[in-house]
Amino acid sequence: MREKYEPVIGLEIHAQLKTESKIFCGCSTRFGDTPNGNTCPVCLGLPGALPVLNREVLRKATRAALALHLHINHESIFSRKNYFYPDLPKGYQISQYDRPFSEHGWVEIPTSERNATGQAIEWRMKRFGITRLHLEEDAGKSLHEGMAESATKSYVDLNRSGTPLAEIVSEPDFRSSWEAYDYVQFLRRTLLYVEVCDGNLEEGNFRCDANVSVRLKGAEKFGTRTELKNLNSFRFLQKAIEYEIDRQIEVLEAGGRITQETRLWNEREAKTVLMRSKEDAHDYRYFPEPDLPPLLISEAFIQAQREVMPELPEARRRRFVAEYGLSFDDAAQLTDSKGLADYFEAVVKASGNAKAAANWMLNELVRELNHSGKSINDSPVTAEALAAMIEMIDNQTISGKMGKDVLIEMYQSGKAAKEVVEALGGAQISDVEQIRAMVEQVVAGNAKQVEAYRGGKTTLFGFFVGQTLKASGGKANPQIVNQVLKEMLDS
Ligand code: ADP
Ligand code: MG
Ligand code: ZN
Repeated sequence: MREKYEPVIGLEIHAQLKTESKIFCGCSTRFGDTPNGNTCPVCLGLPGALPVLNREVLRKATRAALALHLHINHESIFSRKNYFYPDLPKGYQISQYDRPFSEHGWVEIPTSERNATGQAIEWRMKRFGITRLHLEEDAGKSLHEGMAESATKSYVDLNRSGTPLAEIVSEPDFRSSWEAYDYVQFLRRTLLYVEVCDGNLEEGNFRCDANVSVRLKGAEKFGTRTELKNLNSFRFLQKAIEYEIDRQIEVLEAGGRITQETRLWNEREAKTVLMRSKEDAHDYRYFPEPDLPPLLISEAFIQAQREVMPELPEARRRRFVAEYGLSFDDAAQLTDSKGLADYFEAVVKASGNAKAAANWMLNELVRELNHSGKSINDSPVTAEALAAMIEMIDNQTISGKMGKDVLIEMYQSGKAAKEVVEALGGAQISDVEQIRAMVEQVVAGNAKQVEAYRGGKTTLFGFFVGQTLKASGGKANPQIVNQVLKEMLDS
């Protein structure tokens, strides 16, 4: 049944632009402060107070727009979006409507369907259109005591009122829930790279709504869409879209019609539920904001931001594959954040060994960081310290196996590799004469096995290696042990 239909999805993202103060007044944007402490006549919507645009918002919005290949309009207009809600004291939100800050953008990103265990099946590149990125102020926050309809008390916190937002609207270009999932992850990563948004879903500074419809395969017209809200994790977004596709197909197959409405994701029951139908939709009565002049952005202003743009995650991922010979997965993981990618390149620069840098980071360091809830930026092992350890392995001072213990000790103590190796009882033994002496002892002490080996039971070789390593307290270089044993047993 599902095969008959094609899902169509469009995404709306609200990203809080990272600034010290709000978009139209000097109040702090700090999260978690005493409720209503960060307010003034402007963001409280008191009569007569006038908005003044924060220039830093424009720098951040410009970088976001450039990263998404959006055309920045040299002139855009702020508009009033009118509606009533207790957390919107002015009775309108200052937003942009028919002349937005930027439009006609796109991203080209890797995307893949997933199998039943959530594993990517096959990555391919796909381009998604971005309709627009416009500026607006956030509303305040309502907190309800008790659940939904039975709430007994409601509180309003206006600290968030007037926080700068970029609303990023996509074209209806997604054809599966996983495409939508890959896109929002990508968008968040990109905004973090260009340092314009914290991308923290729990604190609400990166929020996503999904518009979903289905149509018969081959049909030209889009079906009627529903809008999904309350998607406060990437997984919820994916699951909600998936549920909604199935629900719509079921309705259509039963001969019903889809009505345009807003639905909420209910994680506990793993389904979407009706919030309001389009008949209750607001007529926002947009009109130009009389208290703000048209917004003029010069080419020089845009150029200044272009010059401070870092290499973007997708370009960096491709370069990591080409320049360092990394796999797609490793390169994708290492470019997941700018901090991780910078760290990796610092290790490569200091050690000259990209493969080892990737392996040690992804197999050992990232796990330790996850365990202690740290980000790469506050790793107790610096890139230079990890490089020094990799060099000790490369020049056979320690074995790769010892390296694991050494790294964990470095992580816990913050000490350098050299110090840790000394404390752990010294470096690997690579001295051939010293190893030969150990091998001689092992050979002398196991005459019966030597005879069996020479008689053709070559599988015993591993036994001799094991015995020699044991005799060395695990410190003998296994490669040299192998070499010396071969010489001695096969002669
Ligand atoms: P609204 O102002 O009601 O939010 P928009 O025209 O701005 O409507 O569209 C919002 C989002 O819905 C966009 O991301 C757009 O791509 C998407 N969209 C529009 N039509 C459809 C459809 N039929 N199916 C799925 N998504 C759609
Ligand atoms: Mg909308
Ligand atoms: Zn204020």
